[in-house]
Parts: sequence; structure tokens; C-alpha cells
Amino acid sequence: MVNVIVVAGAGVSGLTSALLLSRSKANKVTVVAKHMPGDYDIEYASPWAGANVLPMAEDENSRWERRTWPELKRLTEEVPEAGIHFQKARVYRRLKDEAAPGYHPADPLFSANPWYKSVLPDYRELNQDEVIPGHDSGCEFMSVCINTAVYLPWLVGQCLKNGVVFKRVVLTSIREAKTLSHTGQPANIIINATALGSLKLGGVEDTTMTPARGQVVVVRNEHHPMVATSGTDDSSTEMTYIMQRAAGGGTILGGTYDLGNWESIPDPNIAIRIMKRAVQTAPGLTGGKGIEGLSVIRHGVGLRPYRKNGVRIEEEILDEQTSIVHNYGHAGWGYQGSYGCGERVVELVNEIRKRKGEDQSRH
Ligand code: FAD
Repeated sequence: MVNVIVVAGAGVSGLTSALLLSRSKANKVTVVAKHMPGDYDIEYASPWAGANVLPMAEDENSRWERRTWPELKRLTEEVPEAGIHFQKARVYRRLKDEAAPGYHPADPLFSANPWYKSVLPDYRELNQDEVIPGHDSGCEFMSVCINTAVYLPWLVGQCLKNGVVFKRVVLTSIREAKTLSHTGQPANIIINATALGSLKLGGVEDTTMTPARGQVVVVRNEHHPMVATSGTDDSSTEMTYIMQRAAGGGTILGGTYDLGNWESIPDPNIAIRIMKRAVQTAPGLTGGKGIEGLSVIRHGVGLRPYRKNGVRIEEEILDEQTSIVHNYGHAGWGYQGSYGCGERVVELVNEIRKRKGEDQSRH
């Protein structure tokens, strides 16, 4: 039995799902999306991401991130054209942030005994003399940083090589995807990877979706290692992180995590605070010249697709012929969970295929 599959969405979630599905000849995959790699739009989160691996899940929900790391590591080692490089990450903690649980979207990252210490290589606690001023402790481990401007087109290329067909479409209802396969046949499986689009998309209208606004400054200055801190004194919606993208992609200075804020224009006051905190945390960024020493490429804002109860990866039966497999709501971890989630999509599609095959043989 051939699966006619339409993937709605061409961010990292849709593209990774399409890539993994297209590895089976039994799957004929079409990707339909309003935005594609190359576009920059507030509604399209993927290009704005750093993107690195700084684990955010609690241990019990860590499957997606645990399963993704080996593939990102393999790509970094063996596939240079994917635009990913290894970079050490340093995470600094303040005791006063620990005292306020729930303060940060990535609390588990700052745990003193995190699950990821057995997953990410070279994990170690920092010596006290390695901890930056104003912080009480920290750790270091090996991570990666993805140049999204290289990686997303690379994913498209890998999909094209496997026969995936891409179409620009604005869906008003998820049901429309059923008629959009390049094969001309009705889709028996629709993958919903429309992220924040799922809030308004007819037939989904998931009101638990909301944006987690992320403002960043992209600079030419270089910095190793990557840095993330457990909190700032500026605002509970502001954070400090620094990561240098692979292959000349610039260095991302972050940022904010502002739930419910749809503002698409970068706020200049926030931008100044981001740059000040970055230079304070890592004076080496500008060789001690302060923020005047930063060479800005651009200011940006992306909306992370936050879902109140966490990611939705499950089957929903649309009608007798067609199932929807949802894969949306990845908030701030869409890249670092992409292969784990894509793998679950493939499992669900295989389960549907098996069930439908069994149904057919019964008739
Ligand atoms: P999106 O990239 O938003 O893609 C959604 C797709 O659905 C688009 O193609 C869109 O056009 C399409 N679509 C939506 N509605 C419709 C419709 N009605 N009709 C047709 N198409 C539709 N993650 C990490 O793992 N590591 C990081 O370091 C990291 N840093 C980040 C920093 C910032 C500033 C931001 C904003 C995000 C960051 N993230 C990071 C999070 C990551 O970017 C997201 O989790 C991820 O991009 C979500 O991907 P997605 O494919 O689900 O959604």
C-alpha cells in the first residue's frame, strides 16, 4: 500500500518529518506551506532560531531531545554542507534564580544534576574561578550550533533528492491539504506541522497555542564558547545567551521569551539591553570595547510556537480515508528535538499504514 502524504508546514518540524518519511519508497510526500526556507517572517519561527542544543525538557519528557542529539552529532561530523558545527556551551547559574522556580522557560537546563549530563559529551561542573561575576555556579558541555540559513535549504535539498514535491499554499483549513498531493490522489495522511499557524487553522484551532516572542541581535563579532545564564535583573521575560552559528552565520545575542507578545518590530530598548548583557557576560566579544565594538548584522524577532501543555504529536482521524498526524508546539526547542519528533511521526504513520492494511485485508 502506498501512503499519499501531505505535510503542512516547511519549518524545521515539517521538513524533518518530510525527510524521514521520504526515506521510505512507500511514502509519496508533498510539502505545502505559506513560508519556505529563504523567507523571513514573524510567523515563521525556524529561520530566527540560534539554533543550538541547550536541553530544556524535564527528564520525563526528554525523549525528543535525547533522540535528536545523535543525528545532529552525526551531521556535524559527517555532513559539513548541513551547516552545523560543534561548540562548547557554558551555562551559568544564580542561586536567586533557583529560588524562583518557573522563572525561566528552560529550568531543567540550569539543574545542578541534569539528565543531559550523560547525553551531551564532556559535561563538567565549572571550577569556581571559571564562573563569571554575579553567578554562583555553572557547567560546560559539548553542543552544536546550526546555521539555519544553510541548514533549512539543506533539508529541502535532501527532501528533493528523495522525490518530495514542494508547493506554496496558504491553508484556511487543514482539510484542504487532503487535495494537494502532487500525485493527484487524495492524501491518506496529513502531517500538521503548522506551528503557531495551528492557533487559527480551520479544523485545528488550538487555542492553547501562543507566541513566545524572541528578540535577538545578530552580530559579526565572534565568541566561543556559547553562553546561557539562568536569569537577568532586567525583566523576567529577558534572558542572556550567545551562540556563534556555523559557516559565517554570525553570532546570535539573545534575547527574550515573552509569552503572548505578537509584536513583530524589534524593540530598541530591549536591543540595547541584550547587547549590554552580552558584552558584560562575555567582554571578549568586543575586546573590551563595550557595545560600541559590536558590528550588527541585523535585529530580529521570531515567535516561538508555544503550546500550554507541551508539544502535540498524535494521530487524529479526519475521516474514513484520512488521518492527521500532528507535530506542532515545539516552543524554543524545535531544532534540538526535531529528529526525535520526526521519528515519532514516522512511527505513527507506520502504525496507521499497518492498521489500514489490516482493515483492507479483512474486506
Ligand atoms: P515554523 O518554523 O514556524 O514553521 C511553520 C510552517 O507552517 C511554516 O512553513 C508556515 O508557513 C507554515 N504554516 C503555518 N500556517 C499555515 C497555513 N495556514 N497554511 C500554510 N502553511 C502554514 N530551537 C532550538 O532547538 N534551538 C535554539 O537555539 C532555538 N533558538 C530560538 C531562538 C529564537 C529567537 C526563536 C524565535 C526560536 C528559537 N528556537 C530554537 C525555536 C525554534 O525556532 C522553533 O521551535 C522551530 O523553528 C519550530 O519549527 P516549526 O517547523 O514547528 O515551525
